[in-house]
Amino acid sequence: MSSILDWTALELSAAVRAGDVTAADATDAYLRRIQAVEPKINAYLRVAEDEARAVAESVDKRRQAGETLGPLAGVPLALKDIFITEGIETTCGSKILEGWTPPYDGTHASRLRGADSVMLGKVSMDEFAMGSSNENSPHPPVRNPWNTDFVPGGSSGGSVAAVAARTALCTLGTDTGGSIRQPASLCNVVGLKPTYGRVSRHGMIAFASSLDQAGPVTRTVRDAALVLGVIAGQDEMDATTLDAPVEDYLAACDEGVAGLRIGVHRNAMELEGLDEDVRVAFTRSLEQLEELGATLVDVELPHFAHAVATYYILCTAEASSNLARYDGVRYGARVEEPSLLKMYKATREAGFGAEVKRRIMLGTFVLRASSYEEYYGRAMKVRTLIKRDYEAAFSQCDLIASPTSPVPGFRIGERIADPLSMYLSDVFTIGANLAGLPGISIPGGFSSAATPLPIGLQLVGPRLAESRLFSAAAAYEAHTTWHSRVAEI
Ligand code: GLN
Repeated sequence: MSSILDWTALELSAAVRAGDVTAADATDAYLRRIQAVEPKINAYLRVAEDEARAVAESVDKRRQAGETLGPLAGVPLALKDIFITEGIETTCGSKILEGWTPPYDGTHASRLRGADSVMLGKVSMDEFAMGSSNENSPHPPVRNPWNTDFVPGGSSGGSVAAVAARTALCTLGTDTGGSIRQPASLCNVVGLKPTYGRVSRHGMIAFASSLDQAGPVTRTVRDAALVLGVIAGQDEMDATTLDAPVEDYLAACDEGVAGLRIGVHRNAMELEGLDEDVRVAFTRSLEQLEELGATLVDVELPHFAHAVATYYILCTAEASSNLARYDGVRYGARVEEPSLLKMYKATREAGFGAEVKRRIMLGTFVLRASSYEEYYGRAMKVRTLIKRDYEAAFSQCDLIASPTSPVPGFRIGERIADPLSMYLSDVFTIGANLAGLPGISIPGGFSSAATPLPIGLQLVGPRLAESRLFSAAAAYEAHTTWHSRVAEI
């Protein structure tokens, strides 16, 4: 008999609906797992044990009463602490929000609850989702379950570590420049960033509003399809959500990859600093896609080299504006001072970490009147060129493949003193955010190190091509065994 912890969300929810297992037992299994391994991983900021047990019991009662349960019946999951949860402290990984307990659920928490899932708690992240290693945080570093001396990636480090450590069956992360896909790659899990506007941003604390998207982190491609089906769709609380129909993403997982043209991003392969193990794994993945009937075509993204610089101008500009609201008056922490201005300053000085301050300063700089045209205006133009690069590429192919991260991972502390090397972690993921496109990272190999680290494969599609991503990713997953490896903790 396999343990409940081995089941996918699809299997578990079916078993709960059928009455083969209770939501209470599933929740208990995960809570016990959290107790056992969490001290070694630090993925959770808050475990909402009592709330989780109460929700699980009510799900079971409703089943016993003959009610039809939702698609995530009894699935124990966790949310990145960027998602607003009624009655549960939400800090976005920042001291400045300590003590803030939202009076309402955001769209994500309420749709997941409506699907009868069980929320176990809130997981760690880089402060305000700024980072690639989860080290930009006032909390103990999240550790990579595959090698606890290594970072889990970021900024959704807690989200991926919890899924890899089996302390949550699925989680939500957010991706502004790669924060779902890059950590998913480092921890051997599936991470999807949907098309901009596919998922609501209501109830997700803003970092860079024109780039931010929420998405699922799961063990399998089918589970990602299941969760996306729950959270996707138009939301009257977010005017940027698209009114396109939510497709049957699970059905798309059966379509296969045969006949699809996979664009191979050649600039990516020439990147200086691309790890040799990553190159080998990626080349092997391409062969596997070919064996499955896909055709490979070379594509170029001529402005690829400018994506990281463009991103850091735009995301810091937007962040400097979004983070102006944390002033000690409306939310969370306040440092008392005799005058209002002194109170603002002292609160922001004490509340924000170094990376957040760096970005507020950079963003304020690129937006001031004398540098606006030179930086912000120009970055917006380059963003358009990058978007056009993708449009041109997608006239020749159906999906674009690349590694997700240029390296399998790095040690805790190794890059923290060097922001520029940290910023390069997202060199392959940022383009999809700038162009608003969907991208998925799936387990695609392991490094040759004595303690092997996971390597992710990224697929990016045209706008609203989530179904196509799922078709290709599920076919690849069925043909490979990387995703079924479990970290030993
Ligand atoms: N690592 C990138 C950054 O630091 C991306 C973050 C994200 O996607 N939230 O901004």
